[in-house]
Amino acid sequence: MSILVYIENIEGAFKKSAFEAISYAKAIGELTQQEVQALSIGQVDETELNKVGKYGVGKVIRVNTDKLSQFQNQAYAAVIADVARQVGATSIILSNSFSGKGLAPRVAAKLEAALIDGALELPTISGSSWEFRKSVFSSKAIATVETSAATKVITLNPNTFEAKEADTPISVEDFQPSVQDKDFSIIIKDIVRATDKVALPEASIVVSAGRGMKGPENWGMIEELAEILGAATACSKPVSDAGWRPHAEHVGQTGLAVSPNLYIAIGISGAIQHLAGVSSSKTIVVINKDPEAPFFKVADYGIVGDAFDVVPRLIEALKLK
Ligand code: FAD
Repeated sequence: MSILVYIENIEGAFKKSAFEAISYAKAIGELTQQEVQALSIGQVDETELNKVGKYGVGKVIRVNTDKLSQFQNQAYAAVIADVARQVGATSIILSNSFSGKGLAPRVAAKLEAALIDGALELPTISGSSWEFRKSVFSSKAIATVETSAATKVITLNPNTFEAKEADTPISVEDFQPSVQDKDFSIIIKDIVRATDKVALPEASIVVSAGRGMKGPENWGMIEELAEILGAATACSKPVSDAGWRPHAEHVGQTGLAVSPNLYIAIGISGAIQHLAGVSSSKTIVVINKDPEAPFFKVADYGIVGDAFDVVPRLIEALKLK
């Protein structure tokens, strides 16, 4: 029995959430006395692979064939399941990223495994019973689930488990997966990055703004604040509906669910549908001119004030640091 952690890369660079998944897998390995192996699919160079060792996992299985150089849901799921069978993995861990959300159910179906999606912390293990806390209903609630399945596929919510460094030398083993033509029913020919900005689902700081900004012409200060903080930008639904911001930035019940370390909400009322996607943020800062705005009820820090006064002053203060 062992643990397999799939480490996701973008253009050859592992994602931050991949290192969180490694640390999570390692912690489960310590709880269960099982070895952890990491699986990398696609073209990743030696320097990047060495980073896996920096987070304490020494064995990396590399699958790098031309056909698998681009992310393909079905094919990658087939590879992960194939490797899991070959190494006798009974826990398969992925990040609950956009790709992980697509892969995990497929891998679970192939392995006839239990699927625990959106785990928030380490399981409580008692004999064969594993109990997890996981987010449900767009992070509006937390469910406690229990499984005694022999094989488990677990996805970890980004930003919920700290990636801990623990230097270990790595050994890389190349693996030839048995993928078939039917695993490539959709072929991705090219992926072009829409933006070089910090990716919203994984960002540890998010600067988000709503209708209180009055119009798209006022987003300069939001972008400037985000840039200074190394943050991603987000918005409320009416803002993206109005075309002030791209739909990819819409967070909430019908948009993305995010759980950054810091969520700064500017000119957003805090409607329940918005909170559904952001309430698992570790620290929430609200800037709103209405002291009765519902967002203040869930805020860790609040500033009652006009965004057009507060945000520029915040930017100036941060520039002085
Ligand atoms: P408003 O409600 O108009 O609030 C603007 C806020 O800005 C106010 O609190 C105001 O006091 C403040 N303000 C105004 N001027 C300033 C200023 N100068 N300085 C500081 N503060 C200022 N919404 C989402 O965001 N995400 C979702 O996923 C989502 N899904 C939905 C699904 C359904 C089925 C439904 C029915 C609704 C959904 N909504 C969603 C919409 C949601 O109900 C709210 O209407 C929306 O979140 C409000 O957006 P807002 O806070 O930007 O705008």
